[in-house]
Amino acid sequence: MFAHGKKTFIEYLQIGTTDEKSLDANQQLFVSNLFSFIGYTITFGLALNAAISGKSVLSISLFFASVIFFFCHQVHRFPKLGNTILISTSVVFINLLILMLYLVYSGGVSNTGPLWIYLVPPVAFFFNGLRKGIKGITVFVIILSIMLFYPHEALLQTTYTLEFKLRLILSFLTVTLLFGFYEYSRQQSYNHIEELSHKYEQQAMHDALTNLPNRRGMRVYLNHEYNRLMRSKEPLSLLICDIDYFKQVNDKYFHDGGDFVLQSLSKFFVEKIRQQDVVARWGGEEFLFLLPNTRLADAVVLAEKIRQHVEGHIIQYKNNDIKITISMGVNEVTPDDNIDQAINVADHSLYNAKKEGRNQTVSADMIK
Ligand code: GH3
Ligand code: MG
Ligand code: MG
Repeated sequence: MFAHGKKTFIEYLQIGTTDEKSLDANQQLFVSNLFSFIGYTITFGLALNAAISGKSVLSISLFFASVIFFFCHQVHRFPKLGNTILISTSVVFINLLILMLYLVYSGGVSNTGPLWIYLVPPVAFFFNGLRKGIKGITVFVIILSIMLFYPHEALLQTTYTLEFKLRLILSFLTVTLLFGFYEYSRQQSYNHIEELSHKYEQQAMHDALTNLPNRRGMRVYLNHEYNRLMRSKEPLSLLICDIDYFKQVNDKYFHDGGDFVLQSLSKFFVEKIRQQDVVARWGGEEFLFLLPNTRLADAVVLAEKIRQHVEGHIIQYKNNDIKITISMGVNEVTPDDNIDQAINVADHSLYNAKKEGRNQTVSADMIK
């Protein structure tokens, strides 16, 4: 029973949250919903209380504020209105400021109205961040001070002692400073974590030796280009390249020599491809090229160009001249096959290039 109630309540507070929104946006939405909920229940209770105390204007004002807080929660049910997070947080905040100023102006019940103004700093910073939060609070403090210190209390419906007014402003500024500092450190930590997570994501997507995208990184490009192919029907080709007899390079020049060859070759590949092409380290000494806007025949021409360059190129490593050759398998992706099938066909072409004696390019249409 309790668990069910809790689940329903959390679902109620999650109105408007979606998987497409960022974690931060969803969290802000959740808190905005929670704040609207607390806002309309408390103001509604205070409205009833004021009505019982015979303060009809205060009661109506509080009831009006309660309706606005309620609207802020419901606005997420209408995504067509646009940026509903911005709408609800702005309305919640402005509604809160007006309500606070009204409570100070009227004194609320038994002159306790000003006690609520300490809600302003945390809400201002949470919904608006540090800079905009400070701006909002500054405007609030200026209006508040004018109201409190205007000659003969002409802008107040009630009276406060001078000591009370001064201490109210001073304690409000102290609370603002503390919340501001808290928000500042929170933002710093958030930025730091974002930077770290971006860095780790980059590392997870790239191969440390060659700096090329690794399999995981290449998956992102493959999916992106495949989706584009499905939409635009523009041609898309794949090229798999494997170094011939690479084991012998390792045997002769040791592992470091092999690594050096992989690095040099990677740099060479990056120089040879167009800006829209991607080359990834697909395996140990195997590279996958993704060639958008390229038909099979053009991909074969590129593969041959690269293969011949590598064949004629000398890699200098510690006074050694290393010569290598590569084998290529080429395939064009069609909307009929999925990306993994297309890679398998390119792989099969590569296998045939190896079988036929290596240092050559085999196109998928030659073996189909
Ligand atoms: P084939 O022509 O049939 O491709 O022969 P191969 O020797 O190139 O192929 P094989 O698959 O038998 O060997 C690949 C070698 O690549 C074995 C492995 O030690 C080496 N290798 C894989 N990754 C790395 C690496 O990061 N650095 C170095 N130095 N060698 C690597
Ligand atoms: Mg090999
Ligand atoms: Mg291999």
